[in-house]
Amino acid sequence: MGNGRWPSCPTPDPSPEGEGSKKEETMTYTGNRGLMLEEPLLFEKGAPDRCGVDLPDVPAVASRLGGLDRHRPIGLPGMSEPDVVRHFTRLSRQNYAIDMGIFPLGSCTMKHNPRLNEKMARLPGFADIHPLQPEATVQGALALIDQLAHWLTTLTNMPAVAMSPKAGAHGELCGMLAIRAAHDARGDARKVVLVPESAHGTNPATAAFCGYAVENIPADARGRVDLAAMRARLGPDVAAVMITNPNTCGLFEPDMIAICDAVHAAGAFVYCDGANFNAIVGRVRPGDLGIDAMHINLHKTFSTPHGGGGPGSGPVVFSAALAPFAPLPFVRKVGERFELVEEAQALASNDHDLSFGRMVAFHGQMGMFVRALSYMLSHGADGLRQVAEDAVLNANYVLRSLEDVFTAPFAASGPCMHEALFSDDFLEGTGLTTLDLAKALIDEGFHPMTMYFPLVVHGAMLVEPTETESKASLDQLIGALRSVATRMLAEPAEAFKTSPHLAPRRRLDETAAARRPVLTWREPEELAAAE
Ligand SMILES: *Cc1c(COP(=O)(O)O)cnc(C)c1O
Repeated sequence: MGNGRWPSCPTPDPSPEGEGSKKEETMTYTGNRGLMLEEPLLFEKGAPDRCGVDLPDVPAVASRLGGLDRHRPIGLPGMSEPDVVRHFTRLSRQNYAIDMGIFPLGSCTMKHNPRLNEKMARLPGFADIHPLQPEATVQGALALIDQLAHWLTTLTNMPAVAMSPKAGAHGELCGMLAIRAAHDARGDARKVVLVPESAHGTNPATAAFCGYAVENIPADARGRVDLAAMRARLGPDVAAVMITNPNTCGLFEPDMIAICDAVHAAGAFVYCDGANFNAIVGRVRPGDLGIDAMHINLHKTFSTPHGGGGPGSGPVVFSAALAPFAPLPFVRKVGERFELVEEAQALASNDHDLSFGRMVAFHGQMGMFVRALSYMLSHGADGLRQVAEDAVLNANYVLRSLEDVFTAPFAASGPCMHEALFSDDFLEGTGLTTLDLAKALIDEGFHPMTMYFPLVVHGAMLVEPTETESKASLDQLIGALRSVATRMLAEPAEAFKTSPHLAPRRRLDETAAARRPVLTWREPEELAAAE
């Protein structure tokens, strides 16, 4: 391997990093590479007899554990305070974050979260309250939820909104439970939910979770719902259609009104996955299209940090037909005061006794509400329209800047919305794939785009720049993508089969990592004995 871990240009590594071998050869004594510092596990680094503080000996007391006391050492790694601080700081530097660079993950809308949002979310009146506090002491927080709800219903032209769902997929569940409750109330036990191929993967999962049989509707050659196929399948057994719009190809569904009309005529409801609302906010009101329920990912459209599993917030807007079935709790203004309606029976008018019930213990993600409303208020109505326009402009800039090298399957049918979709057809014959390209992009210092999703094109690469990226940062990403793609077409494939070469870890066995994850640390002796 001549030049070891630091090839001046990527050289093939005959032994790509396999399962179990965490470290590989390095040219340095420490294993560090410049200022990128290697870091072992806490368990490898610490020792049980080391400690950052001096604790007094435990006084001898009679055990009351009924013979269940532990006699073996607990096995926690002891470390000094500076060791602990350095451990986590070193690990954090191996991470990629939206505060370090563009995060072009399609369908994830990784946009900058303004610091103003954080400042507002940390105001003690929002951050330090408890969901069980008396209503009279949290009037400001309830007013904020009410104001945010007002923005959401206004932007969508829908009469009602449920604020409590905690993410997009949770919002889908909320919407579909309301649809099921509406059918139940009519005594209509429909069994099927239609989901187009261009829908997000959470849609069929949600429908199945609600007990429905899921049937696919194909996409047409333009990457849109095949309207004729949809019309042909509608019937008395169909409870709802779940449509992602803009869809996961980054395209607007132009037949939305016709689809809604056909679905309603068949006695079913239209659920719209509105996680991509950032592409149309201020330009299109889903209520005008005939949609019955739609979740909005506050953590995408209205900034707020997300990723790594949370936190999110997925309020669901409802049409008049579904509003009575919306979940509890909700905030209601009575005179000058705000109150939380927590129980259907307590309502004087009983106009919510059809509610399907409660989805979460409390009232939703307060911190996300504050951040989203901060984003709305700091942009204003015209600024929110510009959010959509800039998000779409940026995605089209990426699409048009790369379509001569990359395969852009639907580019001929016109502009995209907020994300640019490519396939790896242009790599045919090289032996290289989307995965290799994504790994090479890591060497260029970028988090890769979304890969192999949507499923409707081969080796999909979905790039979503969002409105918060400047032209300069887009030019850098485009330059890197062009460079990697042209090198993959011109140079021997082997080097790309083992990329990334410059990252803290090389190519990992992702299948083994997913199928046989090693989630607990074991003493090396214990491990050796087990093998
Ligand atoms: C992100 C996304 C979802 C899921 O949202 P979560 O908050 O991750 O549950 C659903 N549909 C689409 C189109 C999305 O982009």
